[in-house]
Amino acid sequence: MSGFVFSEKPIEIAAGDGVHLTDTNGTEYLDFGASYACTPVGHCHPEVVDAATSQLEELMYVQASYPHAARTALYERLAEVAPVDVDKVWLCNSGTEANEAALKFARHATGREKIVATTQGFHGRTMGTLATTWKDKYKEGFGPLAGGVEFVEYGDAEAMREAVDEDTAAVILEPLQGEGGINPVSTEYLQAVRVATATNGAAMILDEIQTGLGRTGSMWAADRHDVVPDVLTTAKGLGSGLPIGATLCRDWIAADAGDHGSTFSGGPVVSAAAGATLDVIEREGLPAHAEEVGDYLRGELRDRLGDDVRDVRGDGLMVGVEVRRGSNRLLRDLAIDHQILALPAGRTVLRLLPPLTVEREHADRVVDAIAEVIG
Ligand SMILES: *Cc1c(COP(=O)(O)O)cnc(C)c1O
Repeated sequence: MSGFVFSEKPIEIAAGDGVHLTDTNGTEYLDFGASYACTPVGHCHPEVVDAATSQLEELMYVQASYPHAARTALYERLAEVAPVDVDKVWLCNSGTEANEAALKFARHATGREKIVATTQGFHGRTMGTLATTWKDKYKEGFGPLAGGVEFVEYGDAEAMREAVDEDTAAVILEPLQGEGGINPVSTEYLQAVRVATATNGAAMILDEIQTGLGRTGSMWAADRHDVVPDVLTTAKGLGSGLPIGATLCRDWIAADAGDHGSTFSGGPVVSAAAGATLDVIEREGLPAHAEEVGDYLRGELRDRLGDDVRDVRGDGLMVGVEVRRGSNRLLRDLAIDHQILALPAGRTVLRLLPPLTVEREHADRVVDAIAEVIG
């Protein structure tokens, strides 16, 4: 048997510690991709490892219809860090499931079908969320997907105002697009989406699966833009790499969400890991740190790369460098020649999503290496 969905890289990773990964030959890599933002507090943070291991030894699993201390504590922690009034929680196992639930809850609570999504948006790959994901290459040969989805230009407030009406169940969007190319939008735009949905009784679903947990310089990107959505989804880094997602909802959604469920919802081990991850993010002030190091990184990238790149953009430690040719070769050279792991976002954007614990010295190393591989 062999795996077939992912094409594997020629680097076999054996261990992780903080901002570094080590391969089976003992070569150490600086991890500026964090496996798509899955390790906000760094690899194998001792507090997360302890929380998960002690839970593992005590009880590996019990289903969510039995209360469990780790899950209850996580519900409370999530409500504390969530935007005000978004304090009802549904736990699942991934990002796509968190969004899938968000769309189902919104349809049920509004009794409407229409969903508005945005160009270049990415919300997952199950049949429901895939219908709200923009790029055709992810959909080819899988249709028919969930119906009732209409796309509008990301960042265009007027188009959003026109699309959202009294038949609209929800708008789903990222506050800063990740997979689509690290595409920022203005505070005015997000607030216009908030007004358009509220006016029409539709739910605003903010997908913070990549932007959340301190990455953009505040716990949620919503906080930076003074927007409180009806539903906020999170996953990726929430369990420091253990599979967990969450759909955070306001009362009006949670009170009429319909019949939903998932066997593994809020298992004790992932709940303990997620609780510890949130503790570390808050206690170590990682959102503010991400803002500080991220501003520094973008500044250095702009100074050093100048016109050799088209653009440097993003917030906090969610950084995109738009290059003038395909990014694949650059990523390979960064990994093989400089032991720096980064990610693509589309064909021409280098995406940097390091653990939020990186320091300026790591940023310097990455800037030097990018300058060299591009030069
Ligand atoms: C990764 C991602 C998803 C999907 O998460 P999975 O855990 O891969 O299902 C959804 N939305 C955004 C913004 C993402 O970055």
